[in-house]
Parts: sequence; structure tokens; C-alpha cells
Amino acid sequence: MTAQFAELKAQPEYSVASQSALARKSQLFINGKWVDSTGGDTIDILDPSTARKIGEQVDATAEDIDRAVRAARIAFDDGRWTGLAPSMRERLLHRLADILERHADELGELESIDNGKPLMFAKSVDLPSGLAFLRQMAGWAPRLGGDCVDPSMHPSGAFHAYVRREPVGVVGQIVPWNFPLLMALMKIGPALAAGCTVVLKPAEQTPLTALRLADLVAESGIPDGVLNIVTGRGETAGDALVRHPLVDKIAFTGSTAVGKIINRAATDTLKRVTLELGGKSPVIIMPDVDIDSTAGSAARAIFFNSGQVCIAGSRVYAHRQVFDELLEGLATQAGEWKLGASLAEGTQMGPLVSAEQRARVGSYIEAGRKAGASVVAGGNVSGADSSYFVQPTVLANVTPDMSVVREEIFGPVVVAQRFDDLDEVVAAANDTELGLAASIWTKDLSAMHRLASRVKAGIVWGNCHALIDPALPFGGFKQSGLGREGGRSGIDAYTEEKTVIINLA
Ligand code: NAD
Repeated sequence: MTAQFAELKAQPEYSVASQSALARKSQLFINGKWVDSTGGDTIDILDPSTARKIGEQVDATAEDIDRAVRAARIAFDDGRWTGLAPSMRERLLHRLADILERHADELGELESIDNGKPLMFAKSVDLPSGLAFLRQMAGWAPRLGGDCVDPSMHPSGAFHAYVRREPVGVVGQIVPWNFPLLMALMKIGPALAAGCTVVLKPAEQTPLTALRLADLVAESGIPDGVLNIVTGRGETAGDALVRHPLVDKIAFTGSTAVGKIINRAATDTLKRVTLELGGKSPVIIMPDVDIDSTAGSAARAIFFNSGQVCIAGSRVYAHRQVFDELLEGLATQAGEWKLGASLAEGTQMGPLVSAEQRARVGSYIEAGRKAGASVVAGGNVSGADSSYFVQPTVLANVTPDMSVVREEIFGPVVVAQRFDDLDEVVAAANDTELGLAASIWTKDLSAMHRLASRVKAGIVWGNCHALIDPALPFGGFKQSGLGREGGRSGIDAYTEEKTVIINLA
């Protein structure tokens, strides 16, 4: 057994607040009330640090989804939300943010238990970022505005023409398990600010914070039916939501494979679709950097959240002059990350979210080994069924055709490659079907800007990685997605433009 597994700290006892959240009856939040499912099926909730069952959630039926969609439809059509003064929507969303903030400790712990992420990260990253998104988007509600445009083919003053921004309608929102509450708030913030009503489905691996969110929405004064929260499996409950004829838009964050299924399913009714999908993001390191600190940054870019991050820096490209030193630094860092149960003090990396994810990441490492990659650090997967740990892993001697280089692993595994010049690294960085993010590390401004413009990715960082800000658009090129979250584009994505032309004659 490796030292990193031998030193694993056990999961401490849950707080009273978490225990009571876990003891809740499995129900759905529809039209402002907790209701029973029309079916009797449930899905177990596990703590990935112990693999123990800690609760159950409803596995919603198509009938349940229909009920939730109809509640959202009525709440949209009767104007209880769209008809409010936009400044009132802003106020209610800020009130929800205030309530969530007051429950931040409890929500952080629930997230940490459910997902396996270290408690300190749940509290210092997930919660504050989610609240920042919610507040930023709340601010757009009274500022959406419109445009007044003179028609170009008619005499000036003959027509009055303007463009209104109206909420798109009922939105189905489907989120993944890696940042459950953060992703939920990134979705509901712009939708509710724009005046849409929502049916939100969390991932079946991590429903706990979404269910607590429902309790707190009920306290916020947001009218019944405006935000409905349903749990259930993707292929059944998620699919029923995507296909429902009364849903106007689907907003999805998750894998590229499921994103394609959803896009196809949404075509029948030509729903509006926003997709935030997978990544295989390059970290490009030029020869002028400080090696020690850059190796630490590259390690954080991949190992944070056990590598289960869509924007993880999973491909390191270091200039030949610094490659060996950088690789050594990265390997040293990988060996120093402290693995442990999510609530244990000092844990820097928790388990992966599930046994399935552990097996998936393990099989990628194995495929890399078989294809000839060298394991420079880590490479082990915890064997016991009592936890889902994978060591921080660094692979070198890889070739561009290997699956570890081409496919999103979604675990703490980085592949390191060397390059000689900018043309070569641009070609390598862009040699992928994905295009979510990239980071460039250099003090050379010319190289920085030339690379930033040539790398095909929705977001490019210079001398930092994974900085996401609600004021700025976020989303992918190529098969990493459709549309943007954040910034002005993030709220516009929940509106339809309506052109009004009035003949003044
Ligand atoms: P996933 O695609 O398996 O599941 C995501 C959600 O989709 C879950 O709620 C699931 O229940 C639902 N789902 C599954 N099949 C469905 C179907 N047929 N119809 C409707 N809904 C369905 O993804 P995951 O494994 O939970 O999350 C990991 C993936 O998410 C990674 O690929 C990661 O890169 C991506 N991700 C992207 C971003 C981004 O902003 N681009 C952010 C976080 C995660």
C-alpha cells in the first residue's frame, strides 16, 4: 500500500445539522411544497469517503417530472414571477443569497459529505463562488433593458422600432456532481433573474445541497412554482425533462456524451439549449517561468477537487528547456498532496465521487501504462470498497494518439509533454475535439498574446488557472459546449429577443 493510502484519515462524525438533513423523507419540491413521488423508487445516497449509504432520494418518474413542469409552466404563464417588478426579482434573489449565506457552514459540510471534496474547499470555493454568481445575476434583473433601432429601409420617423428582451419561459436545468450547489446556483441565478421559471435536477450522486436549497427557497419569498427541484436518474427523469413539450429551454452541464444526447432529444421541440461540457485543457509553460511555483500551480490545476473539474489542466506542455525540471516538480507535488476523508482536518484531496468514477480513472491509468506511458508519480487506485481514492498521478512519455492524452479522464491524472516552439505547442494544444480552457505561463508578453489568440478555447488564463468570475462569460469552443454562462451573455441566454415595429403614419 502506498504512503498516501496508508495515511488516510477516517471520516469524522457528521454535525447534527447534516444528520437531520440526511434523515429527511425522500420527496420532490414541486410548486413550493414537498410532495411524494408517484412511484416508489429511490436511489441510495453514499458518502464517497466511506462508501456507506447515508440516505435516499426519490427516483422521479416521468409523471413526477410532468407535475413539476406543469407547476413551472403555470407559474410562468400567470405572471407571478415575470409580472413582478424586476427590482423585486433582484431583491428576492438577494434574499435567497442571504439565507444561503447564513447556512453556508451546513451547506459546505453537506457538499463535502456528498461529493467527497475537502470541507475547506467546499466552504472556501463552492459556497462563495455560487453566492457570487447568484448575486451578480440578481443584479441583471432590473438592468436587462432593450434596444431602440431606426429601421434602415424607411424614412426616419416613419416607424418606431424597438427590441425587447423577454424571458425564454420554462427552463429545465440539469447539473453534474462535481460542484453540485455551485452549478445549481450558476444555473438558477440567470434564469430566475431573467424572469424564467425552473425545474432543476441535480445529479443522482449528489442531491443533498439541492434538496436543502429547496427548503431555503421556500423561506425566501420566491413564489411557489418558480423553482421546482426534482431528483432522479439522468436517462429517465432527466430525459423526461428534456423531452417535455412545455419546457422552452434546457440548460445542461455535464459530459460531452450526454450533452449530445440532450441536444438531439431537444431538437424535436426545437428547445433552446445551453451546454457546458467536458474539457481537456492544456497548461502551456514557457522557459522563462519560476519552475517551483509553476509546478505547484500546475499541480493545483489538475489535482484540485480530485481532478473532477471540467477546466482541469489535464495536459501539461512544458518547453524543452524546462521540461525535466518541471516534471520533477510536478511529481514531487503529486506525492505531497494529503489524501483523506472529506471532513477530516488537513485533507487536500478527497476520494472520487463514486466507485464507478474510481474504476473509470483507474482504467485510463492502466490504458496509459499499456500504451507505453511512464508513471512518474502516483498511479494507484484504492482497492478497498470502503473508499474511492485515486493517487495524484503524473504520466510522461505519452504520444498524441493515447487515450490519456485525447480523452477527458475527470480524475487526478495529468499527462506531461515537451515542445520546442510556439507553432508546435499551438498545434498540440488544439489537437483535440474539446476546447473549454487553457492556461499560459510566461513573462513574455508577446508569446502570451500570440498564444492566447491561437489556442482554441472558451477561456484562456495567463499566469493563473481556473479563475472563473460571474462578470465574465464562461463556456466552450468545439465539443466543449454551446453558449455561455456568466457575464452579459449568461443572462441573455435566458431571454428571447422580440422586435416590435410600429407604423407611425
Ligand atoms: P453526466 O453527463 O453523466 O451527468 C450530468 C447530469 O446529466 C446528471 O444530472 C445526470 O443525471 C444527467 N443525465 C445523464 N444522462 C442524461 C440523459 N440521457 N438525459 C438527461 N439528463 C441526463 O456528467 P457527470 O459525470 O455528472 O459530470 C462530469 C462531466 O461534466 C464532465 O465531462 C465535466 O467536464 C462536465 N462538466 C462541465 C462543466 C462546464 O461548465 N463545462 C462543469 C462541470 C462539469
